[in-house]
Amino acid sequence: MRPWEKNIRRVAPYVPGEQPKGDNLIKLNTNENPYPPAPGVRQALKEMDYDQFRKYPDPTSNELIKVLSEYYQVNENEIFVGVGSDDVIAMAFMTFFNSELPILFPDVSYSFYKVWAELFHIPYETPVLDDNFCIHKEDYYKANGGIIFPNPNAPTGLLLPLEEVEDIIARNQNSVVIVDEAYIDFGGESAVKLTRKYENLLVVQTFSKSRSLAGMRIGYAIGHQNLIQSVNDVKYSYNSYTMNMPSLRSGVEAVKDDRYFKESIGRIVKTREETKGRLKELGFSFPDSMANFIFASHRERKAEEIYKALRENHIYVRYFNQPRLDNHLRISIGTDEEMKEFFGFLEGFLSN
Ligand code: PMP
Repeated sequence: MRPWEKNIRRVAPYVPGEQPKGDNLIKLNTNENPYPPAPGVRQALKEMDYDQFRKYPDPTSNELIKVLSEYYQVNENEIFVGVGSDDVIAMAFMTFFNSELPILFPDVSYSFYKVWAELFHIPYETPVLDDNFCIHKEDYYKANGGIIFPNPNAPTGLLLPLEEVEDIIARNQNSVVIVDEAYIDFGGESAVKLTRKYENLLVVQTFSKSRSLAGMRIGYAIGHQNLIQSVNDVKYSYNSYTMNMPSLRSGVEAVKDDRYFKESIGRIVKTREETKGRLKELGFSFPDSMANFIFASHRERKAEEIYKALRENHIYVRYFNQPRLDNHLRISIGTDEEMKEFFGFLEGFLSN
């Protein structure tokens, strides 16, 4: 061992879903949107003058923050923008979770939370979801150094009603509560409207799912101006220029086209509901998802076996080889054509 090796930080990293190469495949494994971004994004990118890339981008992301503040009817100083919600949440962990008390998040939720907690040396506890994968608000009534949970939850898709979200926030006014709303646009009621009522609430959303811009890496947080000021202080102590110019432009155009946004969500929700029906017919059961994915297990066949068979046929879904999750598949909602092919293969496979 080299002397410096003992000084290396050892971490068990988050493992993102696979990004297989090639055109002839059906990708239902990372909850991407199957439809393209708003047409205005394409136009704006085409019109970008490449000479401007000599310069640094706007460190304040002002243009994007402005359209978001109009969209959500909040002030500009109540919004923070980052490189995907992963970046926003990581900054928020660094900013708000510095207590000696453990932070709390559900045992089954976004697996990155644990990785950040370990990376930043934040103590944590993971209240256990019940057998139906439901969050119990009472588990969050104990002393803590902060709380985070996705709503709808991932990978289950289950939505916690806004009254229960509010109950958790209201009972924890001594710590910051982060509600990760990566999938909220697919059917839930957002907690953004509570940010004026609770100074300890930070709501995080992303352009990666409902706005079809995972590749541009845009996320944001909405909360009381003091919270936003604090995350900005951490951001400027770390990296001033997080957002690049094409991402900022794309984000602005995506927010402007609300009609396209709603149409695209409407299509995904329709396909999701049809998918639930087909999955049931084929012997699957699943929590009732309000997100753009379904977390399903089959009454007879092992999830891993189905996952492998699908994969051999170039259909990718997400399989988590972990206790409690290893007999489920997380199936992202694709286009109707993609779901048709998915079911075409599945029917044949299950009848053998
Ligand atoms: N939160 C949850 C619950 C997610 O599933 C994801 C997607 N992996 C993210 C946050 C991060 O998404 P992004 O960084 O693309 O905004």
